Amino acid sequence: APSAARPHVVLLASPGAGHLIPLAELARRLVEHHGFAATIVTFSGLSDSEALPSGILDSVSTVALPAVKIDDLPADALRGSLLVELIQRSLPSLGTLLRSMGSTTPLAALVPDFFCSAALPLAVELGVPCYVFVPSSLTMIYLMRRIVELHDDAAPGEYRNLPEPLEIPGGLSLRRAELPVPYRDCNGLAYAQLLRGGRRYRRADGLLMNTFYEMEPAMVEEFRQAAEQGTFPPAFPVGPFVRSNSDEETGASAILEWLDRQPARSVVYVAFGSGGALSVEQTAELAAGLEASSQRFLWVVRMPSLDGRTCVFGTGDDDDDPLAWLPEGFLERTRGRGLAVPAWVPQVRVLSHPATAIFVSHCGWNSALESAASGVPMVAWPLYAEQRMNAALLEGALGVALRPRAREDGGAVAREEVAAAVNELMEGENGLVVRRRAEDLQRAAARAWSPDGSSRRALEDVAAKSRAALGAGS
Ligand code: UDP
Repeated sequence: APSAARPHVVLLASPGAGHLIPLAELARRLVEHHGFAATIVTFSGLSDSEALPSGILDSVSTVALPAVKIDDLPADALRGSLLVELIQRSLPSLGTLLRSMGSTTPLAALVPDFFCSAALPLAVELGVPCYVFVPSSLTMIYLMRRIVELHDDAAPGEYRNLPEPLEIPGGLSLRRAELPVPYRDCNGLAYAQLLRGGRRYRRADGLLMNTFYEMEPAMVEEFRQAAEQGTFPPAFPVGPFVRSNSDEETGASAILEWLDRQPARSVVYVAFGSGGALSVEQTAELAAGLEASSQRFLWVVRMPSLDGRTCVFGTGDDDDDPLAWLPEGFLERTRGRGLAVPAWVPQVRVLSHPATAIFVSHCGWNSALESAASGVPMVAWPLYAEQRMNAALLEGALGVALRPRAREDGGAVAREEVAAAVNELMEGENGLVVRRRAEDLQRAAARAWSPDGSSRRALEDVAAKSRAALGAGS
């Protein structure tokens, strides 16, 4: 007989707004559309772990695991390596938690995010179906799959590297410099973690992908074939997971009121996600470029990086004032037409505001999806993680972004290039084509989650499978 209790899904969220926000949105939909109860488990031990996004989680429970120490890792370890190690070392307490949860009502599914694949063997051991949530593109998973295949198909001891350039389904060709850092150095810790993680993924019941068909059509087909041939678990495109406006934190009313006073489609929104950092020189060039473009702008200014890193996570010191690093007189000269704000804005509200025209973005995958969902074309300014690859996809395959020309020597993008890219996208003929494509993609994104949309149906499919597995097991 059907039990009165709702089937319970446990989701594992690695630290970082870019992981937590879409996972929380997935949890919310499982609860509101599919009748599940959901618990989000978070991990503690990183110095800069943020709280869960507020507002979104009224219907979802959360549990924070006790902190573990990871301060013995090398100081220059990549962010992703820290996350993987944090999760690995939290497995004992996770195991205890899952066993105690499962002892009252059996779990319908475990949903670890991309960095939490260490939990897969635990799910197998507990007999709980396991769906990995990937807050990134299918293209990223394709890369991971390729690397594992090349290694595991090679004769023992025979090393194989990713070919360069790497041709990927959909017609993109990626140079080594465009691959995420772990893929470039086959001797690194991150590379080894990637291989281990990639092999574990093969044991998943499926992957829940924060993407939708029109965002990566060739990849969706590629993974459909792989699943049919049994070479990889099915990848379900269930995105885009974009918070609804009303879910976003308020407290930014001055920014939204400023936007309300700007003409329709007139504002250049500039933001580099939760970790993006520019050098002092690049901050100055970007400022000068915005000034030279004569466009209106809203710029989320973050503390510049003084050591060449392109990403710095955490909130920094309370007395840090990013605006103090802007060129002298910049704020006065642009007063009225530009607004520079420190740290954080409610991005989904900003992108969907009628005054917003274009988005100068680091191309984090969430930012890309949020932009797509709002029909806002981008100036692609990738900084870290898989953002170069995202930029290549947005510019090359989808045609919804332009890129400012970078300097050959890797130095700062010049102010003239910033102004030219911004003005082209706002007013130029090439810009017009890109703007039109962004509108097309917006319609496709809306269709994906319409009542009979492809992403909604894909998530319904997974929900039905989990319920069936629960029924069969009890
Ligand atoms: N975000 C925001 N306000 C900001 C900057 C970022 O709300 O000022 C949100 C943004 O909407 C997105 C997430 O933080 O959902 C950043 O994720 P993304 O994948 O774009 O980049 P990451 O921070 O992971 O590099």
